[in-house]
Amino acid sequence: MAGNMGMEQLIPIVNKLQDAFTQLGVSMTLDLPQIAVVGGQSAGKSSVLENFVGRDFLPRGSGIVTRRPLILQLINGNTAFIYIFPDLMFQNMQSFCTVKAKSLWTLKEVRREIEAETDRVTGSNKGISNIPINLRVYSPNVLNLTLIDLPGLTKVPIGDQPLDIEQQIRSMILQFIKRESCLILAVTPANTDLANSDALKLAKEVDPQGLRTIGVITKLDLMDDGTDARDILENKLLPLRRGYIGVVNRSQRDIEGRKDINAALAAEKKFFYSHQSYRHIADRLGTPYLQRTLNQQLTNHIRDTLPSLRDKLQKQLLTLEKDVEQFKHFRPDDPAIKTKAMLQMIQQLQTDFDRTIEGSGSAQINTMELSGGAKINRLFHERFPFEIVKMEFDEKNYEGKLPLPLEIFMASE
Ligand code: GDP
Ligand code: MG
Repeated sequence: MAGNMGMEQLIPIVNKLQDAFTQLGVSMTLDLPQIAVVGGQSAGKSSVLENFVGRDFLPRGSGIVTRRPLILQLINGNTAFIYIFPDLMFQNMQSFCTVKAKSLWTLKEVRREIEAETDRVTGSNKGISNIPINLRVYSPNVLNLTLIDLPGLTKVPIGDQPLDIEQQIRSMILQFIKRESCLILAVTPANTDLANSDALKLAKEVDPQGLRTIGVITKLDLMDDGTDARDILENKLLPLRRGYIGVVNRSQRDIEGRKDINAALAAEKKFFYSHQSYRHIADRLGTPYLQRTLNQQLTNHIRDTLPSLRDKLQKQLLTLEKDVEQFKHFRPDDPAIKTKAMLQMIQQLQTDFDRTIEGSGSAQINTMELSGGAKINRLFHERFPFEIVKMEFDEKNYEGKLPLPLEIFMASE
């Protein structure tokens, strides 16, 4: 199966950075941006996302298939396994028990599980829900990255959908794409009018300057004979700062005929290179180009994040240098230093002692038995009264007998 080559090439870079930081004992905060798809129903959003990963696992099809947000977290790790679970933030602990964790899912099982999980919350009659499905994919072949598949914009409620479905889906989408760290793939099918594209309208609301919006035109193969999307793809019609990328995803028939991603990519390439309206820009069209563009965005992001990481390191270096400076003129037998060191040690001992009594001090907390202040507390409030009561008891056993006189030994002068 075709993976995402560009993404796989980025992995070693990120890993190298991570290694370097681990060696230095610095935690690396390299949050990669999220990528979300926006567009009308059946525009090809799930198909585009799936093509980005290069794996075949999202439910796709006609009608409203994606009915809950799907938050797909790709996590780079040595073991390959997948978790699907409803988000804890929205659900109580009880539903957390429905966690489904299983190793070695086949992609088909993943797809089926997503469908079942969608139906579990929304019912099977086209209802929607903004409770996300979380899908975590651990694999050595992915970058730490979050992709968000969203339900498509619709206008007319069907089945069990609420009357204000349009409003509900809009606010659901906005909730994700309003974040500054979210790249927006605004998906519009070529066989509809771009000027009416809900995807572009919505993207413009949260990203008016088009800094993080990429136009994606799908279904170029389904345009009426004699029409083409050349003006759009050349970024002349409704220019976007980052332009448009045209793709040809698998059709419903391809999906039913189980055309695999490799075959689909080859067909897409052939389509662009043999089409007279697209031939001249064919190297800037298609799924591999979309992948490359997104990978470029990720690379840029990493590059943009590096200066702040470097600043952090430099600050640490400075403090270390200051420490070293202190010790440069250090003469261990200088009485002034000795006194200072002793005072510091006494002070340290005092703080340690205080902390132990408070029970807030030591790095390791003994969970097997009480220690420090807690032990004193217990002795005083439990053990001591108990011993007192026991003494009273003992007294009763001495009925009639005089208590033994206390013997006091004093050191002779
Ligand atoms: P979503 O609702 O936006 O997530 O759309 P899907 O990815 O589920 O796709 C909806 C339907 O359109 C599916 O049957 C896909 O096979 C089909 N489809 C998506 N993109 C293309 C395309 O570029 N060409 C063709 N012929 N069909 C497509
Ligand atoms: Mg979908």
